[in-house]
Amino acid sequence: MCSKAPAFFLEPALHLSYHIPMLSPLRIGPGIYVVAGPDLTDGRDALAYLIEDAGELALVDAGAGPSYTRILDLIRAAGYDPSALRFIVATHNHIDHIGSLASFVRDFDPIIVAHGLDATAIESADPVRTAARWYGIELAPVKVAMKLEGRIHRLVLGDSELVCLHAPGHTPGSLVVYLDREGRRYLFGQDIHGPFEAMFDSDLDAWRASMRILIDLKADVLCEGHYGVYHGADRVAEFIQGFLDRQSG
Ligand SMILES: [Zn+2]
Ligand SMILES: [Zn+2]
Repeated sequence: MCSKAPAFFLEPALHLSYHIPMLSPLRIGPGIYVVAGPDLTDGRDALAYLIEDAGELALVDAGAGPSYTRILDLIRAAGYDPSALRFIVATHNHIDHIGSLASFVRDFDPIIVAHGLDATAIESADPVRTAARWYGIELAPVKVAMKLEGRIHRLVLGDSELVCLHAPGHTPGSLVVYLDREGRRYLFGQDIHGPFEAMFDSDLDAWRASMRILIDLKADVLCEGHYGVYHGADRVAEFIQGFLDRQSG
């Protein structure tokens, strides 16, 4: 990013072009970027995160659907080829996180990973369970090639390990992902704030237990789906604890 414009940029026409915002991914850490979100791609998108290791790529979530080609542009702008996508982890079955999965599978054939308890709604494109009807988006069904069961699953991406933890609450099959890199723990916790709705089969007791487990992970960076990115172990714990306090009544 330029901190100071060279003198010739002050010529009017060039000055104007200098201020046109560039579509660029937001770097969170080494090989970790935000590649979708309201400020980057589409107001309906939850934040989606790109992780790279040894030439292999993974996405944590994939936007609401209409922004698919913009997400591709951002992956390329980060310096990567989307054909290197090995995994897309769908953290849960809501449209703002899964809308582009079918397009990615059609074009690049990554392995779609989701918890078994949320996979049915994704595979059937259920307009209520996915909230697609709320968003007014026609969701395409997509096969979940890797349906996770149990509490923990480790995905190997290049030389890294993406740890997928079952963290039910917002939905029955909600997942979080964490990654340890260069001495920092990055926690991808999408929609850990809620909301909690009967139509999502939300479970507040299960959610409280999930949040305590997340606090115990002592992550250094929290990458959330709608609230952005929090740096610093204290701020991460405060964020999660704040929502726990609010729900304690
Ligand atoms: Zn969301
Ligand atoms: Zn959600």
